[in-house]
Amino acid sequence: MPVTEEQKHLANAITNALEALYPTVECALESGGDPFRLLVMGRLSAQCTDARVNTVCRDLFAVYPDVYAMAEADLPTLEKLVFSCGVYKVKAANIRDFSVIIRDKFDGQVPDTMDDLLSLPGVGRKIANLILGDVYHKPAIVADTHCIRISNRLGLCDKKDPVHVEKALIPLIAPEKSSDFCHRLVWFGREYCMARAPRCEECPLRAQNLCTFTERKS
Ligand code: SF4
Repeated sequence: MPVTEEQKHLANAITNALEALYPTVECALESGGDPFRLLVMGRLSAQCTDARVNTVCRDLFAVYPDVYAMAEADLPTLEKLVFSCGVYKVKAANIRDFSVIIRDKFDGQVPDTMDDLLSLPGVGRKIANLILGDVYHKPAIVADTHCIRISNRLGLCDKKDPVHVEKALIPLIAPEKSSDFCHRLVWFGREYCMARAPRCEECPLRAQNLCTFTERKS
């Protein structure tokens, strides 16, 4: 879909408004800046809340603190540790398997390209973009549930498919701002633009005429 000047202007204004609203942002996953831990947490966060992942990972990383320990993990023990994140058997197997690959093929370092990240079991574009943006400070659109919902409401895209949203936002958001833009959408989605009952009346973006979602809905 060709990008219009109007969309670019809107995206720029939304980016500035979110920056003003949340001047400093951090990833909601508390990895302590450790790339491997962020990768594990990203995998666990599928169909699970960030808060639960943060809690689970305190115990998980006490037992398996790094890629080398995780590559040698006892699978039943690992499954028990990640059980409450859901889909625990698949997640545990993915985490141990990608730890082995990172140890053996990537010299213990989380890879820094989309292709290499996607070659890891259980790692899709969402996690790969999280790593590229947060760890390697590369342009990255993390098309998670907040990003998809809010981008559609704001009129920055018009489909719910994550790849579509990612591709639609890439030409609209300045590359150096893209990773933080997505983090800000998470905070904004929790404070104002919730899935079920968005606080449109109090919304700072609406106050700046940056969202017409309510009008479009009615
Ligand atoms: S006006 Fe409502 S739908 Fe639009 S961004 Fe704000 S909270 Fe979300």
